[in-house]
Amino acid sequence: MRGSKLKQILANMSAEQYALTVGTAAGEPLTEAFSRKRVVHAGVRGKPVMPAEWQSTWQRLVGERPKPAERAAYLHIPFCRHRCLYCGFFQNYSEDELENAYINSLIKELEMSKDSPYLAGGPVNAVFIGGGTPSTLSPQNAARLLSAVRNCLPLANDYELTLEGRIHDLTADKIEAWLANGVNRVSIGVQSFDTDVRRAVGRLDDTRTILERLERLSGYNQAAVIIDLIYGLPNQTGEIWNEDLALLKTAAIDGMDLYQLNIFQDSALQQAIHAGKLPPAATTAEQAGMFAVAEAELSAQVFSRLSICHWAKTNRERSMYNVLTKAGRNVIPFGAGAGGNLDGVTMFLNRDVGKYMESVAAGCKPVAGMFVQPAGSELHNTVVAQLERGYLNLSLLSARFGPAVLELDPLLELWQARGLLQSGPVTAKLTVSGQFWYMNIAQSVLECLHALLDGEHAVEVQPIAAQG
Ligand code: SF4
Repeated sequence: MRGSKLKQILANMSAEQYALTVGTAAGEPLTEAFSRKRVVHAGVRGKPVMPAEWQSTWQRLVGERPKPAERAAYLHIPFCRHRCLYCGFFQNYSEDELENAYINSLIKELEMSKDSPYLAGGPVNAVFIGGGTPSTLSPQNAARLLSAVRNCLPLANDYELTLEGRIHDLTADKIEAWLANGVNRVSIGVQSFDTDVRRAVGRLDDTRTILERLERLSGYNQAAVIIDLIYGLPNQTGEIWNEDLALLKTAAIDGMDLYQLNIFQDSALQQAIHAGKLPPAATTAEQAGMFAVAEAELSAQVFSRLSICHWAKTNRERSMYNVLTKAGRNVIPFGAGAGGNLDGVTMFLNRDVGKYMESVAAGCKPVAGMFVQPAGSELHNTVVAQLERGYLNLSLLSARFGPAVLELDPLLELWQARGLLQSGPVTAKLTVSGQFWYMNIAQSVLECLHALLDGEHAVEVQPIAAQG
């Protein structure tokens, strides 16, 4: 009977695992559907490749011509001028000499693969230069790097080239170096427009400067301007959040991402809150309320919703890199701390800048970890891509991946009864509550599919610290 195998799997779980997977029945779905947020990214663990095989595996992957599918590249700049209290990604403070040496290595890494059949054999559709803070690069280093990107990666005619940055770096000399060298999308971490909220967590500029600098960048009329906001920061009251949302409508931007604050274990933010230097951040229930307010506010505007947390305000925003990564397309990694995946192999490059540079100097791909993706990863990617857009269509999934997918029915019915899903004739759509809890839902669906297809329950869980 359809769903009986999944029911058996759920029945065999411990009470704790069951509650993590399915959630809780009592209370408001928006604030209490699950006891906590489980993961930052939904995923299922792959099989590790032995270190002795990393280089030969990389050579094999780039020795083959690419399949005819869209693909992306990710370049990592592991430097920041300032450390933000909430950040879980900080690696190194910027320093001119180190930056020059690092950019030399990054260019060499790009050049090492340039003529390989994989790199040369087809277009690269989207490139994302992330960090860290890529906008801290001097205009000279930005120009050198971008020139190497255009020289080494065969960019598609309609390519998207994103540079991530901070408001503080939106000066004319920097912007002009980026735009003259092919950047057509700039993603800026604003986090909040409110001066006090920002400065309390280590950001620098005030509201007026933010708006002026966004205006300046937008005024070049050459790149999509995207900003990130975070909800749940210390001091970010409901009133301030409403002001943040109101400014989205008038700011000179083409799109926006809204992220929930995660307080990482032992982070500077957690320590500052525990020491009483900052008020507590919003609880998960308060964050849920902030998300619901934002969802209602932005849905009432003529913005296009590209995913659960991303809106386009103009046609300039395509979000191509995000769409490709969420769909599990190939992403070629470059730089210390970069991650990517090529034809079923996930890899991470060395985060240690010194070791990264040594490895590149020796002519090696600076791999620090490699995993063969599990069977069913294409199904997993498709499920995540659907949920990322706010729906799940079992008919489409079963037509492509087989009838085992239909076993998920009892889980979806349960979530429907609990107000997380709304079932239509073709697709089940996430309600606002389901959207807030979508990462838990995605992780649970992947775990259940993995158990259904492989008979195991091995999952990769990237923990989020309890709120401080
Ligand atoms: S600039 Fe970005 S990467 Fe650097 S510390 Fe701040 S949030 Fe983290």
